[in-house]
Amino acid sequence: MKSPRLLRSEPATRLLEHHQRHYGLASVVDTRQTGVPIRVGARIVARLQATGPDEAVRGLALALGSLLDALADERERQRRVTDRLILLTRRLRRAEGRLIGAIEERKVDLLRQQRRLADVAQTDALTGCLNRRALDVRLVEIGEACAQVGAPVAVLFCDIDHFKRVNDTHGHSVGDQVLERTGRLLMDGRRRGDLVGRWGGEEFVVVLPDCPEVAACRIAEEIRGTVSAQLFDGSDGAFRVTTSVGVTVGCLDADDVRAGLAGLIDAADQRLYEAKESGRNRVVSGSISPLREAG
Ligand code: GH3
Ligand code: MG
Ligand code: MG
Repeated sequence: MKSPRLLRSEPATRLLEHHQRHYGLASVVDTRQTGVPIRVGARIVARLQATGPDEAVRGLALALGSLLDALADERERQRRVTDRLILLTRRLRRAEGRLIGAIEERKVDLLRQQRRLADVAQTDALTGCLNRRALDVRLVEIGEACAQVGAPVAVLFCDIDHFKRVNDTHGHSVGDQVLERTGRLLMDGRRRGDLVGRWGGEEFVVVLPDCPEVAACRIAEEIRGTVSAQLFDGSDGAFRVTTSVGVTVGCLDADDVRAGLAGLIDAADQRLYEAKESGRNRVVSGSISPLREAG
């Protein structure tokens, strides 16, 4: 209870009267600790003036006290609100972190799924080799890449000999097993960038980019040998199958890669036909015009 002088002093009284006259309010400035402006209602001022300085000081002190209490309450409320806000912000950050993590996981998942779907769309379901459509697309990609640098492309056309007999003798499901295993044997040991696709039925195409004819024939011979060495479970015991392989190697013209590839495939098919005609279970190689031979 510090300042009865405040109300007694001339300037304070004049100030109160002035405020009362103009605003119906009186303002007292508490400069003790808080420096907070305190507004005192006109009715209170009137009552204080009517009751004399002692009462006025007591009343003012009461008013100040309750205002300071209210102020302290307000500060406490603001502190609690601030604490709560800090807590909520932290929770929000944690939730945000979890959400970002979940989104990242989902993205990785989707990418994986996308890759799986792309794989499924490109793969022959029975053999695991590229299907015909994917083979066509990838063949052009390889053809263009090789044509740009002048590298030769080798095409191996592989056909299982007398496969119809396998089906007829052992049934279609055994025939399927032969196709599936042959596909795997063709894919095993291929370089990164080589293609193995199922052309259709029991025919497979192997594409070897940047592969000269000598190497292509060696690989074709390896394929032929590996397949013929394989034992399959038949209806009446184990059996083997053989393959015939037609090989063509050529350098493609960068201006007409598709036509060049079609020529290579036709040539390999022609060599395959010759392998069949000359007794099967063999490799026949060579290019046909207008392809430039490479080697
Ligand atoms: P060649 O030595 O002249 O190639 O004779 P081939 O009997 O192998 O050839 P042909 O074209 O006469 O017969 C191919 C057979 O392959 C006929 C067809 O029923 C069978 N075939 C094609 N696709 C599949 C398949 O997905 N599964 C099975 N089990 N058989 C198939
Ligand atoms: Mg066949
Ligand atoms: Mg065939």
